[in-house]
Amino acid sequence: MTYRAPVQDIRFVLRELADLDGVLALPGFEEISDDLVDAVLEENARFVEQAIAPLNRSGDLSGATCSDGEVTTSPGFRQAFIEFGQGGWQGLQHDQEWGGQGLPKLVGAPASENINSASLAFSLCPLLTDGVIEALTAVGSHEQQLRYIPAMLEGRWTGTMNLTEPQAGSDLAQVATRAVRQDDGSYRLAGQKIFITYGDHDMAENIVHLVLARTPDAPKGVKGISLFIVPKFLVNDDGSPGKRNDVWCASLEHKLGIHGSPTAVLLYGSGKGDVGEGAVGYLVGEENRGLEYMFIMMNAARYAVGVQGIALSERALQQATAYAHERKQGQALEGSAGPVAIANHPDVQRMLHTMRALTEGSRALAYFAASAYDKSRHHPDEAERARYKSLYEYLVPVIKGFSTELSLEVTSLGVQVHGGMGFIEETGAAQYYRDARILPIYEGTTAIQANDFVGRKVLRDGGAVVKALAAEMRTTVAQLEKAADAGGADSQGLALIARRLAAGVQAYENASKFVLANAGDKLRAVFLGSVPYLMLAGVVHAGWQMARAALACAQHANAGTATGFHKQKMATSIFYAAQILPRAEALALTVLEGGVAGDYAAVLPEA
Ligand SMILES: Cc1cc2nc3c(=O)[nH]c(=O)nc-3n(C[C@H](O)[C@H](O)[C@H](O)COP(=O)(O)OP(=O)(O)OC[C@H]3O[C@@H](n4cnc5c(N)ncnc54)[C@H](O)[C@@H]3O)c2cc1C
Repeated sequence: MTYRAPVQDIRFVLRELADLDGVLALPGFEEISDDLVDAVLEENARFVEQAIAPLNRSGDLSGATCSDGEVTTSPGFRQAFIEFGQGGWQGLQHDQEWGGQGLPKLVGAPASENINSASLAFSLCPLLTDGVIEALTAVGSHEQQLRYIPAMLEGRWTGTMNLTEPQAGSDLAQVATRAVRQDDGSYRLAGQKIFITYGDHDMAENIVHLVLARTPDAPKGVKGISLFIVPKFLVNDDGSPGKRNDVWCASLEHKLGIHGSPTAVLLYGSGKGDVGEGAVGYLVGEENRGLEYMFIMMNAARYAVGVQGIALSERALQQATAYAHERKQGQALEGSAGPVAIANHPDVQRMLHTMRALTEGSRALAYFAASAYDKSRHHPDEAERARYKSLYEYLVPVIKGFSTELSLEVTSLGVQVHGGMGFIEETGAAQYYRDARILPIYEGTTAIQANDFVGRKVLRDGGAVVKALAAEMRTTVAQLEKAADAGGADSQGLALIARRLAAGVQAYENASKFVLANAGDKLRAVFLGSVPYLMLAGVVHAGWQMARAALACAQHANAGTATGFHKQKMATSIFYAAQILPRAEALALTVLEGGVAGDYAAVLPEA
């Protein structure tokens, strides 16, 4: 077995940190029992370990190929996707109205983590399909929902997201693909999209492209972008795929990683196919509101990419841990009869603990956010729904930016634990490192997440969520101090966590005050520190979750119900506080010194 889903840690986070009971008690989820959640997680683990994980390496070695405008995916991907659809995995967290299973995001997110750990390249197809389903559920017409969503939920069709063009990457104001309205109400699209994930493939009968384009009289900039559905095959009245539409794969990109995921250049309106000139498209919602709609999909996808970071970190951690116990080098520090497993050396322990702490911390934060999402949609009280919505929206760029940046650190440490063998492809450690590199880039780079975080999530509400979170984190510090004072086996560890979390919260508050105070006249200084500020928020919020985990473990110890798992978790939480939380203070300093440094940042050599 190359990978085991971390079901025990997932269960712990869901129950002890993310309020699974509270979520299952919400209106709409009453039918879902604790046992059902366990059964879904078990079955998901079995499926991804057996059907998906073996595709990871083969997909890396034999990537997708493109010939005559059509893409052939890596061996085994097609069959696995059929099984994925038949297993109902695409529909897990989507509305029952369209054939989904209506489970909370709190259950969907771990299922998605596991499939991404098994094969990131494979999982991108369901990930983008999820986003299309979510966007159409929110803003599609009833007819569009009926036509496209059930087929995607069944895994017969898939979805893509078409934003990027050669001149329009982070800056979507520059989208130039044209859409011209026809007499029958449909549109004809022409233009080129690049970097389109699963833009073409052979895993499903049809592909539902969601495309950003401009109508001829649209205003300039982001206010003139509309959203269209462009199916690869037009859909017949009986719902079957019909005429071949005018959208073709011109080529696939050669990439650093995720070779199994076809990244396509797509041509719209090149005159091929069965429909004449121009790809046939259907407007979603109203003209010129496309970017607003696409944000629904992007928020879902950004959260999901954050989870991809956790997924790759988990897989790299498992492999490094196994290797560190097998590989024997050097004597133990205290002396030993012969070479010992490298897991015996303090620095290898530091690397493995860092990998574990970052992986488990970002997992806990992501599922805490998933719980907020479910409450934002299902809580009976309107004010509570609004409060959870703000919290979730605040956390999305943090989860995307923090978990993906840290997956680079974790997968790099994974290579380091392997020594020279880590640099050799056969071990697989190098693949995780290569695959992880895209995560802080697509679905908005870390800088774009930080712009969103500072501009929309912190400044817009005058720091309301920041203040509420700081108060909650301080309550946890007080609980830790009390638990430490009560004595017991881990009291020193709990006191350490209380100290470091208190310092981390202080750093977060100081940096937040700087951002709020200087947004008016020192905007450049604030944005010079926007990525460090986002990372600071991630370090402290994940550290808070690890601190809550330590409190839960201490309670188990007091009640005599602690297991080996709880002892391990306590160790990881203490390690997080000792070795990761101190980063918060350094990150805060880089934000605060922006007041002066901001004036110098533009002093760069000419290109
Ligand atoms: C493998 C892969 C798969 C992809 N899949 C899809 C897909 O399915 N659909 C799709 O539409 N796109 C997709 N993309 C495109 C991806 O979303 C973009 O590459 C990404 O958003 C960055 O845009 P860009 O490459 O044009 O970089 P640029 O926008 O040119 O950015 C270059 C650098 O400038 C920085 N920068 C740019 N603007 C700002 C700013 N305002 N503030 C601060 N810094 C800034 C960036 O952070 C980055 O460091 C994919 C890309 C890849 C490589």
